[in-house]
Amino acid sequence: KQRFLASLEALDNTVPLPNRRQDRSLPPVPRPHEGFGNTPDTDPSLPANRDWGRAILERVPSSTLGSAAVKAAFIDDETKLNAAIGNALDKGKAWGGLSGNERAEILHRAGEILEARRADLLEVMASETGKTIDQGDPEVSEAVDFAHYYAESARRLDTVDGATFVPAKLTVVTPPWNFPVAIPAGSTLAALAAGSAVVIKPAKQAARSGAVMVEALWEAGVPKGVLTMVQLGERELGTQLISHPSVDRVILTGGYETAELFRSFRKDLPLLAETSGKNAIIVTPSADLDLAAKDVAYSAFGHAGQKCSAASLVILVGSVAKSKRFHNQLIDAVTSLKVGYPQDPTSQMGPIIEPANGKLLNALTTLGEGEDWAVEPKKLDETGRLWSPGVRYGVKRGSYFHLTEFFGPVLGVMTAETLEEAIAIQNQIEYGLTAGLHSLNSEELGIWLDSIQAGNLYVNRGITGAIVQRQPFGGWKKSAVGAGTKAGGPNYLAGLGDWIPATSTA
Ligand code: GLU
Repeated sequence: KQRFLASLEALDNTVPLPNRRQDRSLPPVPRPHEGFGNTPDTDPSLPANRDWGRAILERVPSSTLGSAAVKAAFIDDETKLNAAIGNALDKGKAWGGLSGNERAEILHRAGEILEARRADLLEVMASETGKTIDQGDPEVSEAVDFAHYYAESARRLDTVDGATFVPAKLTVVTPPWNFPVAIPAGSTLAALAAGSAVVIKPAKQAARSGAVMVEALWEAGVPKGVLTMVQLGERELGTQLISHPSVDRVILTGGYETAELFRSFRKDLPLLAETSGKNAIIVTPSADLDLAAKDVAYSAFGHAGQKCSAASLVILVGSVAKSKRFHNQLIDAVTSLKVGYPQDPTSQMGPIIEPANGKLLNALTTLGEGEDWAVEPKKLDETGRLWSPGVRYGVKRGSYFHLTEFFGPVLGVMTAETLEEAIAIQNQIEYGLTAGLHSLNSEELGIWLDSIQAGNLYVNRGITGAIVQRQPFGGWKKSAVGAGTKAGGPNYLAGLGDWIPATSTA
């Protein structure tokens, strides 16, 4: 609760918020003259914007954006990798020597170029990962926000009393494929803002999306070398890059196992990792049940559930478990979702990144004891990537489905007698990334805030789509490894260097 209230206090409400929805046939909304303001998403209700989206999708099947940079980034031996690291350390000296204000100018320009390349970024994400325009658009806004937000944070690093900030010299960024623009952009921009050189290794399923983002930063004036993109195998990443003694920060977003694997390569690894999630929304009898059903469906099935922040469980308290209204609304919302590839502009839920296998395939096809399908997931084509969403009832406390992360379009429904029991059900999970409460009762809100164990708390809304500055994003328990400060929040840059107390040398 303290952390929640503190994060509200940290909000800078002096900057008026712009309209949150933009007409793309008009020039981009100028950023505020001073301070930070969130960039608006595209308004899908405007016919001009729908035409704009369709024009992007027409380019998707033959898109080659970013391919050249990916090819150039391919590293096939240790000598080349060491040369890239040496070059980064060398070029990084001048970068780290710039003032925060000087770096801020370049990063603000990066934000403007990312905004100008919004359509390209949407095209490459759809082409490479199957992300729909609706899901990709807020992601581009988030990348733009990160640029402007960390630019302003860079200015403040120079003005902290009583200590001097010494940036990390070399930061390695290893982002995931599920947010192939916002997460690589956010991690890279933060390290650059702090004054560190960056070597980024984008996820192999989303390397072109990462490449277009990197190109935008180069164009803004971040020198090549200060920002280097590499493509190398998983083994080389661990044995040659991460374990390299010159690397002094690693920013990872990915699975908990990946963080453990990274640490097995180097014991003292200075890791900032946002890892797995298994998140629940609790719905109490006081809730607006129509709103709750809609938010649960969106949080569970947006981007086919492939978000660390997605709702994998909904926990119904007391009479909600028997509420026909809630069940009907949820099932209507889920069964009416149009599933398809992003090239079809009417698709609401896109494909999963790879043919379902392992844990996810199991979750899409197999029920646990006492469970039943309310909506059974169906494989919709031969690729194995297109699945309709699934909802299972009767998930038992302590069961496999209750405790396991699946990262796909399947939601489990659980029930609890009381709010306290619902909270205990969620807290039993070893991860703690996002959590939601639907309730219109302030006493319930207080109980939940005091005891729920998750890094990001959402009340009466969905639990995905954190917005820079308003909802700084980071995990708790096994959803964070290492120095976990929140991305898009006031303290993130502080972890990307060392603080030397100012001592009198006289
Ligand atoms: N920041 C994203 C959100 O709020 C989730 C990031 C992730 O999936 O790793 O939805």
